[in-house]
Amino acid sequence: MAEPMLALEGVTSGYGQIRVLWGMDLVVQPCEIVALVGSNGAGKTTLLRTISGQLAPQAGTIRFNGVPIEGARPDVVLKAGLAHVPEGRRLFRGLTVRDNLMLGAYLRTDRQEIARDLDWVFDLFPILRDRQRQDATTLSGGEQQMCAVGRGIMSRPRLLMIDELSLGLSPRMVEHLSEALLALNRAGQTILLVEQDVMTAFELSHRAYIVESGRVTRSGLSAELARDPTVSEAYLSI
Ligand code: ATP
Repeated sequence: MAEPMLALEGVTSGYGQIRVLWGMDLVVQPCEIVALVGSNGAGKTTLLRTISGQLAPQAGTIRFNGVPIEGARPDVVLKAGLAHVPEGRRLFRGLTVRDNLMLGAYLRTDRQEIARDLDWVFDLFPILRDRQRQDATTLSGGEQQMCAVGRGIMSRPRLLMIDELSLGLSPRMVEHLSEALLALNRAGQTILLVEQDVMTAFELSHRAYIVESGRVTRSGLSAELARDPTVSEAYLSI
């Protein structure tokens, strides 16, 4: 089997004395969409922060394309090809949509390729092309999420991690974003997604991990998890 793009083994992480993740194992293969689901406070955001270098794990290993990255600084992890679209979008007030997108490319120097990627983002999210000169924080919630995802794409990551894709968005907007992610994936983009809406997560992803209290309790093909009565009882009937 090919080497995984991302491989976590026994990752324990948290905030100071507080432990949130307890020995987590997780694998993402090239060209997969993998979803992390689980109730609030399960540790999904903490996991993404640990992978992207905002938190150093207290134990365990994180390999990205075979190279250990645990404890590396966020800019080093980004440069290695791992982009993190944070929960809450975090766009910069006072900067246009275009400038926010271009910030995603700040580590790159290949100007022609950057221009091509900007066009690709505008093709994926045409509304951003129309609104490119507008302050990004004046966009609607869904448009801001498009801009945040677009900023992630602008780093041309090998792995794109997105925290809470659909939070607070209308079903139509979620559908639109989901279609864009599927188009990205068809173009070869590997994606690790945290998604509170379990149905959306299962529909979008090839495989999923269910996280509870900082541990993986189930994992498998998303289509199979969606059909599993114990999973649907716990997560889909609410
Ligand atoms: P949600 O969907 O609600 O964001 P989550 O699964 O992403 O949930 P995390 O945000 O990773 O969960 O939070 C996991 C635990 O870590 C929670 O108990 C939370 O209170 C705690 N936590 C998160 N951030 C911090 C912090 N900066 N300092 C201390 N504890 C924190």
